[in-house]
Amino acid sequence: MRKSKVVKRKGTGGYKKIKCMNHDPENSKWGEYAPTLEGCDEIVEVPEETSKVLCFKCTSRSASQAKIR
Ligand SMILES: [Zn+2]
Repeated sequence: MRKSKVVKRKGTGGYKKIKCMNHDPENSKWGEYAPTLEGCDEIVEVPEETSKVLCFKCTSRSASQAKIR
């Protein structure tokens, strides 16, 4: 049996769950790609040192230029 590779991270190595930065579209650089005008309520697991994250939904919307306004 082969050992599965574990990617070791430097630093604390901890993870946390934070809201997609489009939960507050008014203050998000990517706010216009939020799924609704009320914002995105997606929760994303990120490394502890990360303070902002764009969820995969908003990322794919921005990639396809799916603006809401
Ligand atoms: Zn989002």
